[in-house]
Amino acid sequence: MAHDWHPSVMRSTSLISKSGPLADTLSGTLSSTISSTLAGSIEVIVGSMFSGKTEELLRLLKRAQFARQATQVFKPRIDSRYSVDHIASHNKNLMAAHVIEKAADIYQHLRADTRVVGIDEGQFFDQELVDVCSDLADRGLRVIVAGLDTNWRGKPFHPMPELMAVAEHVHKLHAVCVVCGAAASRTQRLRPSTQEILVGDDSSYEARCRECFDNSLGLVAELDLAMDEGITGTDAGTHLLVAHDCHKNIHTVHAHEL
Ligand SMILES: [Zn+2]
Repeated sequence: MAHDWHPSVMRSTSLISKSGPLADTLSGTLSSTISSTLAGSIEVIVGSMFSGKTEELLRLLKRAQFARQATQVFKPRIDSRYSVDHIASHNKNLMAAHVIEKAADIYQHLRADTRVVGIDEGQFFDQELVDVCSDLADRGLRVIVAGLDTNWRGKPFHPMPELMAVAEHVHKLHAVCVVCGAAASRTQRLRPSTQEILVGDDSSYEARCRECFDNSLGLVAELDLAMDEGITGTDAGTHLLVAHDCHKNIHTVHAHEL
């Protein structure tokens, strides 16, 4: 039954519609089960790291299971934190999950009786996640997606903003700013890196509020460039102070070079 949804003829660039090629692959059982009487929807759970997004996703999925609604959970392969085939909150709450490469892979695993689809770490999926979630909701499924709404630079983390736009419900959660104790909406990177994503390295991040957030902490490339070019002005000095705050080794090395 798991292959009833396999989009063997799905075109990657086209929105999957009810009358599209995917519909042709649906079994009669599935088509009749997901009837127009079921109201599908998209719910998005967003916030910074440590805001409890996965915990909230698990809570909603468990509620659905108590209501005897069949659920399935998906996560991107990129997240290897704690367990490769479960979604896991920071307090080690677990739920079995399908690990997939891209959003459209959901169709390969989706069972005919599934009513609720949970997706964790939505920000790591491709942009097609928006179309896949919309298609599932159009077919009567309840789709719940958890993910970071901003990256370590404090900028929108696609495709979550687009998903929020088409969702029926958006739950915006907040962590606690480790600096001042206010509600935290940003994910602060603590050590410089040239990598856009430091997956599974929670010690490199902390939650901060807008006031305490400083996206220059992760900019190792600019710091190194300033040193290489012998820039000793205000900009380089500012970067040095920033590096000193959270990464003393780098401060020491580059101070010597200066
Ligand atoms: Zn703060």
